[in-house]
Amino acid sequence: MAALTALAPVSALGARGSSSRRTTAWNLAAVGAIWATSLFVLALWVSGAGIQSLLAFDGDSATTLGRLTGLVSANLLLYQVLLMARVPLFEHGFGRDGITRLHRVVGFWSFWLLLAHLVLITVGYAATSHTNLLVQAWEFVWDYPGMLLATAGTALLILVVVTSIRRARRRLRYESWHLLHLYGYLGVGLAIPHMLWTGADFTASPAATVYWWSLWAVAAACVLWFRIAVPLIRSARHGLRVVAVAPDGVDGVSVRVAGRGVRRSGARAGQFFVWRFLDGPGWTRGHPFSLAAAPVGNELVLSARRVGDGTDRLADLRPGTRVLVEGPYGRMTGERRRGTRLLMLGAGAGVAPLVALLQAEPYAPGEAILVTRDHTVAHGLRRAEIDRLALERGLVHYALPGHRAATGGPEWVPATHARWDGPDLLRRIAGDLSAYDVYLCGPIPWMRSLQRDLRAAGVPAARIHSEAFSI
Ligand SMILES: Cc1cc2nc3c(=O)[nH]c(=O)nc-3n(C[C@H](O)[C@H](O)[C@H](O)COP(=O)(O)OP(=O)(O)OC[C@H]3O[C@@H](n4cnc5c(N)ncnc54)[C@H](O)[C@@H]3O)c2cc1C
Repeated sequence: MAALTALAPVSALGARGSSSRRTTAWNLAAVGAIWATSLFVLALWVSGAGIQSLLAFDGDSATTLGRLTGLVSANLLLYQVLLMARVPLFEHGFGRDGITRLHRVVGFWSFWLLLAHLVLITVGYAATSHTNLLVQAWEFVWDYPGMLLATAGTALLILVVVTSIRRARRRLRYESWHLLHLYGYLGVGLAIPHMLWTGADFTASPAATVYWWSLWAVAAACVLWFRIAVPLIRSARHGLRVVAVAPDGVDGVSVRVAGRGVRRSGARAGQFFVWRFLDGPGWTRGHPFSLAAAPVGNELVLSARRVGDGTDRLADLRPGTRVLVEGPYGRMTGERRRGTRLLMLGAGAGVAPLVALLQAEPYAPGEAILVTRDHTVAHGLRRAEIDRLALERGLVHYALPGHRAATGGPEWVPATHARWDGPDLLRRIAGDLSAYDVYLCGPIPWMRSLQRDLRAAGVPAARIHSEAFSI
């Protein structure tokens, strides 16, 4: 047994080297695809005498800049759709957290470029035809083909952006915000006809026409295939059903699900699925939950903290209830590990995927540390499994229960530890941090403060692996 434990990390690390090269390759391919198409759009603009018009320093300069901003914005809007379509290129290349961050950045730029496009085109046309700006804008909306639809599409995109501003979003229920967000698809769709009917750049050359039609077709096909067809086919193939439901901590619930050939789904500890339980009205709302145990045989386990309607109804699920899943998603797996020691820090339900990883990963007694952060010890999820790992595999477990300090101290610790310097506390917990891979899971602000302290304590970014439980 001792020999097996000693050998396991060595062979596993060899495989991890090639996996990290694969992740880098996916990332380069994903970044490359976005840049290559953006540069291609720029080249289309240049070949349409964009630079000459720009240097004319008259009304045409504003119009041509308006065309360029419109083209780049349209390209980025389609990438917004593709980023959320669960396309493997982006899922492997950026991971879910990376996609969420990129979705915000690309959304921000596509929106401001869209507004710049509206203003510049109106200014350019008004200057060339010596018309009042408002009159020009009115003429655009009423007299140009497809523009009324595009105006409605723009209004929808403005609605999506405004409701995504953090302060506005906090006031909305997640479901309402998500429903409004879906109007973004309609907004993009409504803008397409005006590009074809009035946008010279879209039909100017066969290359431009082929490019835009292909990108729209690819985006639509990806949404239909990866978001609808693949999950339905996979769920039908596995025939997943609820096997058992049990309380987990004072406000948690764990659900065991089983089906045919679950092993072939390729799910690994540290990943998550979007789950839909067919238990009655409201089943269409999917919720992301991580695997709370390493997948064994044909069974999957999730563990959730009850925070609202979706998690409350998990407690009432009956054995036999059918389950639809999207996934597996996420890159916070053991493949990203580079060293032999593990430091895992989880807040609230964030402990679930960490426990799954601790079950699946090789380590010697004392080489893995788990830090859990909850309101009280009784609120902790997966406690029985953590105790078992401590007893059978020598996991070292520290609990940090309690409320946050009203002021001062690192944000990731309770008030009882507010006097500690964050990096010092981490060194106290793990000793020589350079030997560790660190896995974090929890809400975004908690993880940010922890990431700052880990970096300050000298842990390289490549050794910190994380998954946020909020979007
Ligand atoms: C990648 C990922 C993995 C997760 N894994 C787990 C887990 O293993 N255990 C666990 O307890 N929780 C997990 N969560 C959080 C969990 O998805 C939410 O707590 C749950 O969806 C809340 O739904 P609700 O209807 O009960 O609460 P609501 O009151 O509707 O929502 C509470 C908060 O949860 C978030 N949320 C709600 N619905 C969704 C959704 N469909 N997608 C994303 N966020 C949502 C929103 O921030 C919302 O403000 C995970 C979240 C993500 C993003």
